[in-house]
Formats: sequence, C-alpha cells, structure tokens
Amino acid sequence: MTVGAVLNGKGHDVITARGATPLREICSTLAEKGIGAILVTDAAKHIEGIISERDIVKTLAAKGTDALDLPVSSVMTTAVVTCAEEDAIMDVMSKMTSGRFRHVPVLRDNKVIGLISIGDAVKYRIAQVEMEAEQMRTYITMA
Ligand code: AMP
Repeated sequence: MTVGAVLNGKGHDVITARGATPLREICSTLAEKGIGAILVTDAAKHIEGIISERDIVKTLAAKGTDALDLPVSSVMTTAVVTCAEEDAIMDVMSKMTSGRFRHVPVLRDNKVIGLISIGDAVKYRIAQVEMEAEQMRTYITMA
C-alpha cells in the first residue's frame, strides 16, 4: 500500500505553525488537537522543521519553563526526513524505525500535503496482517 492510499483514508489535514510561534503556543496546540508533532512551515508550505513532544520535554528538562517563551524555530529539528505519495508505507515504517521518530511529512512539489504518524502505519500493518490471516484461513478450509 502507498502513502497516498493511507492519506486518502485518513485525510490530508496537517497542523502547521510558523517559526516565530512561541513554544507555549505549540504546547497548547499539541494538547488541544491531541497530536504529538507539528510541522513548521513558511508561508508557501515549505517545511522548515518539525517539533514533537519529545523536543519540548528535552528543552524543558534542560532550560526550565522560561523556554516556553522561545520561538519554536530555536527548538525544532531542521533535518526532516520526508516521503512522497507514491512511496510504500512499509518504506516509511522503515524510515521511522531507523531514524527513531514517529512522524513523516508527505511532500508534493516540495510542499506539505499530509503527515504519516506511527499510529497510521501500525493501523495499516494490522489491517494487512488480518487480511493475510483471513486469506490463509480461506486457503486452508478450501484445501
Ligand atoms: P517523534 O518520535 O516524532 O516524537 O520525534 C522524536 C525526535 O525526532 C524529535 O526530536 C523530533 O523533532 C524528530 N523527528 C520527528 N519526525 C522527524 C522526521 N520526519 N525527520 C527527522 N526528525 C524527526
């Protein structure tokens, strides 16, 4: 299954923020939306970075709550691994496993059009394993 097929199922909505947004506001959005990461983009939807709850925990542990007034651009990860709609979802899962992160933005023409989370990937994998088990059961009962 491709990334595009997963996006067609879950939708193309992505929560983004601008680099100047204070960390405090990023925390509120993460809590309000019940998500684990936000993409930081410019006005043209080009990715500048990604900020996840892990970055915020690390920053708070190192700098204390004064860090909540910092712009997100000073805390985010800037070397963002991305994928394209035509990529296989299994390849995205491999990127997450080897890179030890749980979110991969989807780009088209260098612009953000979606986000695959580890939850989306696991949901797909469970559905696939269940389908294979069902096929196996059908094959056995026919034999
Ligand atoms: P996560 O597991 O997504 O909460 O992220 C763990 C760490 O990896 C954080 O420092 C994130 O900023 C970073 N990160 C998350 N997604 C990506 C990505 N697609 N490419 C590079 N780094 C990422």
